[in-house]
Amino acid sequence: MGTNQSSAKQYVYDVLETITKRNPNETEFHQAAKEILISLVPVMEKYPIYREQGILERITEPERLITFRVPWVDDNGKVQVNRGFRVQFNSTLGPYKGGLRFHPSVNASIIKFLGLEQIFKNALTGQPIGGGKGGSDFDPKGKSDWEIMRFTQSFMTELYRYIGPDIDVPAGDIGVGAREIGYLFGQYKRIRSGNEAGVLTGKGLGYGGSLVRKEATGYGCVYFVNEMLKSKGLDYEGATVVVSGSGNVAIYAMEKAMQFGAKVVACSDSGGFIYDKNGIDLETVRRLKEVERKRISDYTKEHPQAVYVEGCEKIWTIPCDIALPCATQNEIDEASAKLLVANGVKAVGEGANMPSTLEAIDVFLEAGVLFGPGKAANAGGVAVSALEMSQNSMRFSWRFHEVDDKLQEIMKNIYRDSIQASEEFDHPGNLVVGSNIAGFRKVADAMIAQGVI
Ligand code: NDP
Repeated sequence: MGTNQSSAKQYVYDVLETITKRNPNETEFHQAAKEILISLVPVMEKYPIYREQGILERITEPERLITFRVPWVDDNGKVQVNRGFRVQFNSTLGPYKGGLRFHPSVNASIIKFLGLEQIFKNALTGQPIGGGKGGSDFDPKGKSDWEIMRFTQSFMTELYRYIGPDIDVPAGDIGVGAREIGYLFGQYKRIRSGNEAGVLTGKGLGYGGSLVRKEATGYGCVYFVNEMLKSKGLDYEGATVVVSGSGNVAIYAMEKAMQFGAKVVACSDSGGFIYDKNGIDLETVRRLKEVERKRISDYTKEHPQAVYVEGCEKIWTIPCDIALPCATQNEIDEASAKLLVANGVKAVGEGANMPSTLEAIDVFLEAGVLFGPGKAANAGGVAVSALEMSQNSMRFSWRFHEVDDKLQEIMKNIYRDSIQASEEFDHPGNLVVGSNIAGFRKVADAMIAQGVI
């Protein structure tokens, strides 16, 4: 090992140690930082300026982390208190941009891991957006529509101080869909006494939303995987696909994979998964989850040939050619990854953020499975969010195919840039290394240009 290489490695490990000490018990944040920073060793070796400028120390420390109280009154007249978060991680490339997650597991570690990922993802899209993320430990499950409205209004009554179309532009994530964005937007508009359409993305089509936004993350993931498959002369036609989750990302990943000729045989929710050997009937899933807000287990009432299994992990025991984890973080561990490989999986595309553990990623890479990491494969959502911001600024709407064409172009560019970076830094075809490096260099070079801030 050359001196420069060993000191580059030492620098990365020193920064990781500081992160671990400074952010105790934030295991998800440590995991995301480790995945990203270790793949940057060759960059630190080749370009010492990043070390001299303290880029890794700066990029892993949020510009700002805001936490706040969210009080609201439930349907029984009882006062409830939740905690709200917004991390404004990096504004080098543009306004902070990233979704809001409402889920009981939300804490500073989850929000910071998502925010860190978001910086690199947003840079990869080539659009002028910085990285942010937010949410609350509020659990939307089982809440009435009125409770959801009261909670989101209270959440926005504090959040509005920190956001704006040129400052910070939130969107949806787990537990935050079109309904929640509508209530958040209404409350922001009411407080600000003005119509700043570009303050949130994922809005309804009737009030500033973009066509293809709701489809964008799922479609984008399938487009990205298509690029990976093409590189090996493969395609979706006749392929067996397993998708985890049955939310926004999963539904549109299933839809596009089916349009490309694949057979999707399984999907899940947080209770368990369904396996339908005839191929999932998407309209049933969409109605159950998007309209009736029921459990995925109800699918078997209408499709008795399908099997429901309680618990989510076992979904990865189903043999498939392509696996699209689209539910949540750390849903594929080492054992599940080994099973997928043993059953002949050819490609894995992360629709969710960090659904594979570090050990699982190693299993895929060592087995030569095509692996599309989340920050590249699921960047389509934020990419179309940025297109929504552009349309809001222009007070103009593009047609469906125009946005879809732009999305496809962006996903192809992300694939190309990531592959090129993987080749330049001696890990040809490794999209984990490639996407981290390609995203990092765009942000780091702009950080140097803007001085130590
Ligand atoms: P939704 O809330 O629409 O759907 C989430 C799905 O995952 C649901 O089926 C949910 O089940 C399931 N799920 C949630 N938490 C868990 C858990 N702890 N264990 C097992 N299953 C779980 O969210 P999205 O589809 O928007 O987000 C899914 C993933 O994609 C997340 O990782 C998110 O960060 C990522 N992502 C989303 C983007 C977007 O545009 N929406 C953009 C980029 C990434 P249940 O119905 O039971 O709650």
